[in-house]
Amino acid sequence: STPIAVVCGITAAARKGALIKRGASLETLAELEVLAFDKTGTLTEGKFQVVGMECSFGVQEQIVLRLAAALESKSSHPLAAAIVNEFTGCVTEMATSQILTLPEVSHLELHEGQGISGVVEGHLVQIGNLEFLHRITSKTLSKYMNEKYIAWSKESKTVIFICVDNKLAIMIALADILRPNSMATLDWLRNLRVHSAMITGDNTRTAMAVKDKLGLDECIAEMKPQDKLAWVKQRQIGIKDTDDGNYDNDQPTGHLFCLSTCCLHRGCHSLRCRENKKSTVGMVGDGVNDGPALASANVGIAMGAGGTALAVEAADVALMTNNLAKIPEIVELGRCCRRIVF
Ligand code: ADP
Ligand code: MG
Repeated sequence: STPIAVVCGITAAARKGALIKRGASLETLAELEVLAFDKTGTLTEGKFQVVGMECSFGVQEQIVLRLAAALESKSSHPLAAAIVNEFTGCVTEMATSQILTLPEVSHLELHEGQGISGVVEGHLVQIGNLEFLHRITSKTLSKYMNEKYIAWSKESKTVIFICVDNKLAIMIALADILRPNSMATLDWLRNLRVHSAMITGDNTRTAMAVKDKLGLDECIAEMKPQDKLAWVKQRQIGIKDTDDGNYDNDQPTGHLFCLSTCCLHRGCHSLRCRENKKSTVGMVGDGVNDGPALASANVGIAMGAGGTALAVEAADVALMTNNLAKIPEIVELGRCCRRIVF
């Protein structure tokens, strides 16, 4: 039978807007050592706005945006809505017959952690990150575009590329806003001695800019869903260092950065984090791409409002109001219950 303190704990958490599915999760929360956050839609609102655009030579912006909007209207990714809005916001300059409906899309394909593609009005349209662009064309970015890409990323903007018929047409910068109490939440977790990490599919520079703003202990970027899962598993079993200082082949492929302070006591010597300790790992996420990691973590926490159903299902806890500050609160609650029960 469930101890009364645990029942009270779950009830108290629910009243705060954190639904805990099982009593055992409350105990796991009490023991939490490492907490990984997804970036987009978790630490940030996931409400993007187009803030910059660069067209390749000879490209007609509106024509390309219309094709792009048609394709992105098929996606539930937070970036997609911004592209559609950008098009519908600037359609007044177009002939009315063209603005009434978006064209049909065939051969639709979602490319996990990279982008989306499909055929619109006989044109192959592909939209995604730099890695995706490199898969599409062997042409490198012009010096101007590359400088812009780097500058935008450093400003923590997400940059995506629209290709039409295998040629880069438009590079777009999108800005997202941080959730209001993400910084306070991370401070609070630090006080509770929980190591914080951000694991994201976005590019390294953008991720680093967010990490610096928020003061996370660690940040790994350019991760696919399977990399996020692998990262969680490795933290659970403890990371094995190889002699040459490189990670084993089964390590996540993302780029790893680590801020010394919080890691030091666990033997972090450089930018490479030499984490050897087995840890109780939590994961916070909102997207389909977080599902495997949420399910594998000792405690998975989903953004309950606006997060995908898959994330909520895979998680042990759902934050009904997306208020991140509820996380340290339920960690404290868990610790409090543990003191009563054990
Ligand atoms: P995160 O881990 O930050 O939630 P995702 O794994 O969902 O990010 O996506 C990683 C990257 O893939 C995005 O930053 C974006 O560049 C690209 N991407 C994914 N889906 C789309 C889409 N529908 N349109 C454009 N780009 C996309
Ligand atoms: Mg996300």
